[in-house]
Amino acid sequence: MKIEGSAPLINQAQGILKKTFGFDCFRPLQKEIIHNILKKNDTLVIMPTGGGKSLCYQVPAIIFQGLTIVVSPLISLMKDQVEQLRENGVKAVSLNSSLSYEQYRNTVAGIMKKEVKLLYLAPETLFKEKTLALLSSLKVDCLTIDEAHCISEWGHDFRPEYRKIIEIRHKIPSAVCIALTATATPQVRKDIKDILSFNQANEFIASFNRENLFLQVLPKDDPFSQSLQFLKKFPNQSGIIYCFSRKQVDELYQALQDEGFSVRPYHAGLSEKERTQNQELFIRDDVQIIVATIAFGMGINKPNIRFIIHYDLPKNIETYYQEIGRAGRDGLKAHCLLLFSYGDIQKIKYFITQKSEQEQRVANLHLSALLRFIETDTCRRLPLITYFGEDYAVPKCNACDNCLEEKKELIDITIPAQKFLSCVKRTGERFGTNHIIDVLRGSQSQKILKFNHQKLSTYGIGKDFSKKQWFHLSRQFIQRGLMTQDMEFGSLKLTPKAYEVFKGTEKVLGKIEQKQEEYFQRKEDSFEYDQGLFHLLRGKRKELADSANVPPYVVFPDKTLIEMAFFFPQSKGSLLNLYGVGLAKFEKYGNIFLNIIKQYCQEHHLQEKPRRMISRPRPMTQEQSNRLANPSIINSSKPVSKRKHVLVGEAYYEGASIEGIMTKFGIKLDTVLNHLSKYLQEGHQIRSDELLKLSTLPAEQKNLVLKTIDQIGTGFLKPIFEALKGEIDYTEIKILHLYYLSTHREMMKDEV
Ligand code: ADP
Ligand code: ZN
Repeated sequence: MKIEGSAPLINQAQGILKKTFGFDCFRPLQKEIIHNILKKNDTLVIMPTGGGKSLCYQVPAIIFQGLTIVVSPLISLMKDQVEQLRENGVKAVSLNSSLSYEQYRNTVAGIMKKEVKLLYLAPETLFKEKTLALLSSLKVDCLTIDEAHCISEWGHDFRPEYRKIIEIRHKIPSAVCIALTATATPQVRKDIKDILSFNQANEFIASFNRENLFLQVLPKDDPFSQSLQFLKKFPNQSGIIYCFSRKQVDELYQALQDEGFSVRPYHAGLSEKERTQNQELFIRDDVQIIVATIAFGMGINKPNIRFIIHYDLPKNIETYYQEIGRAGRDGLKAHCLLLFSYGDIQKIKYFITQKSEQEQRVANLHLSALLRFIETDTCRRLPLITYFGEDYAVPKCNACDNCLEEKKELIDITIPAQKFLSCVKRTGERFGTNHIIDVLRGSQSQKILKFNHQKLSTYGIGKDFSKKQWFHLSRQFIQRGLMTQDMEFGSLKLTPKAYEVFKGTEKVLGKIEQKQEEYFQRKEDSFEYDQGLFHLLRGKRKELADSANVPPYVVFPDKTLIEMAFFFPQSKGSLLNLYGVGLAKFEKYGNIFLNIIKQYCQEHHLQEKPRRMISRPRPMTQEQSNRLANPSIINSSKPVSKRKHVLVGEAYYEGASIEGIMTKFGIKLDTVLNHLSKYLQEGHQIRSDELLKLSTLPAEQKNLVLKTIDQIGTGFLKPIFEALKGEIDYTEIKILHLYYLSTHREMMKDEV
């Protein structure tokens, strides 16, 4: 097929978007990606979960004359995609080990008749002789590899059989190859392109900022009642609660069930049957909440997950991002709450000590990055998004607790600070926050009696604040440098600045936390839709889905029902105008839903509201088409050009030498070191091997510098320089400081 000058094809793609999928416009990068694929350029797509990867290969697959093969690692995801495509009237099938002989034969017959547009395959099925024979008799236009990170040993889910896909590529040389993943590390990206031997490096990296997710972190004081309060805001809505251990899952599941919630557990200790069943109940909206360990979520595509609670601390930022990423795939708002306690850090620390030395280093780095996210009082998206190497320059996202917190005037909190700090002092700087608060609030706990702390003069002098308010205050005292917290044991120690506060020479300004309930207030989605009608439509959807044996969202996503209950469409034309209503779905379900809406409107004297008519897709201008014609790396709608330190850090991480970087970027050694230091402090990893060689100092001087850093801490270079009496060159100190940071197990403790 000749696809040069593919402007008409991209216009055709726009038509398919509305007619087949029922969507008005492409999401960021989708159009550029589709255009690139239609030109038969190999394409690597990196998009976060929910970014809309599937559409990128499904639209071209519909346009191509020949077959599109989609390699996918999980049968449940394959099944889900096939169901959704079929509901949209697209001929899609899958071949995998779960089919009966009869089903298999029918499927193959359909493929042979060239009726099928998309064929989903598990990798092991792909390499079977009979599959290969089948493919050799067909025209294959496109080979799509979903979850392409499975190809790389650097990815989190390496599958050796994925590597053999290249053999298939050789067998169908005219097919364009598309690889899609949500994992974006440079090494994984490189592996994918190398192993699949991409003809050109056409990479599309979407922004990892999921704007519809509301991010919130709360100190965990009474997690169960905090969760109950949170759940009150989400009646009948789907969500996941992640816990650290199976035991915790079982307990929380039981407790929620006792409270009358519709809930099921999910963890690796349950039988396969039980897990599949619980997952299916959740996907089909028969169960509202899943309480799970990290094991849950890989194989599900449910778009209407409205909340995620992290009952315990996630393992690292990547895990956290992946887990919250499962919420709000439909683009509607979702709320992600993380309950955080220093006790959880100790649990993670314990697990870290069980690892090898090298692994410990990485794990500690991960933990530091996670803590930076938790403890920040700036926008939470800043530490989160920059962790993935993307620039983030929005001053206020309005979708995280810190950004929404009313910018109250800072008030004088010197007196509570004096109370707290003197209580830390009087208990011997050996205890953690919880105990100090207990003393201040006059608790009768065993621990207090054991240490005789009820006799202290600070006992009971802090009853005017709740436990939670004290907790919040104590975090501010740490952030303002009045005390430090031992990362391992959680004990608090005073800094010299604290003594200034005692003396009254230093005032403390800060905030007193508002009441808990206000925290869970969400801004509703802008649609004030009719709840009564929505309820009816939802019931009908469930009935239709059950009889077709598919999840409700396959019939219509929530957003479609919300639009129905807002615009009250009365005709075919206006129904087709709504989100997610394509021609095939209209044929199948249109009249059923129209009848319900009409009747409801009559009974309630409601009138249709006009929705902006979606005009037919405008043909693309030559200029637009030219602009799309030559992408190398294109970023999302909000261009995210990577900052220099990220580029330098990635180059070094990928194996470039320091000298090579100096030449490539035209920068001095000092500048390279500054960039690497910044990159490292944002939670990335850097290689330490070359750094030590870079230092020209004799071994004993190197050791002396490292020892001094150890004693003085990693905060600033100047005190280190001074402690070495100015005898060691600044650049040398910088090199060894970086080396220290990149290797030392306890690293970045100071910065956290
Ligand atoms: P990913 O595979 O990247 O996690 P999906 O392909 O499953 O994401 O898409 C996520 C959701 O977004 C799906 O419900 C899909 O129907 C929807 N979607 C994708 N593209 C668009 C679009 N252009 N307009 C509206 N919704 C879209
Ligand atoms: Zn924010």
